[in-house]
Amino acid sequence: MITATMQKNPLIPEMMKAWVLGSPGELHLVEKPLPQPGVAEVLVRIGATAVCGTDLEIISHGEPALIQGGTPFNKNFTPGHEYMGTVVQLGPGVDEFELGERIEDAIKVVVKM
Ligand SMILES: [Zn+2]
Repeated sequence: MITATMQKNPLIPEMMKAWVLGSPGELHLVEKPLPQPGVAEVLVRIGATAVCGTDLEIISHGEPALIQGGTPFNKNFTPGHEYMGTVVQLGPGVDEFELGERIEDAIKVVVKM
């Protein structure tokens, strides 16, 4: 039996480029391992992003993002939550999305870091 987690696309890379937050006001482009979707999560190939006021607040002040119980600075945190993209991998228990489905940020995806 093939489960949702076994539907990994061989075209999905192991690493991805991502901007991460250093000290307040600093973003660095790095290579990060591609996250694997957990229970009730999906992996989305990002097609387009936007920056909103919350992102600017997080980058300069840290709030409202809390990572590991504190502000997100120097914790490999990638800010951003305004996006659209395509579902490329399903985590266990996902039955409301299909591979190839296009979604936007009305659906909140949490990536463990
Ligand atoms: Zn926003």
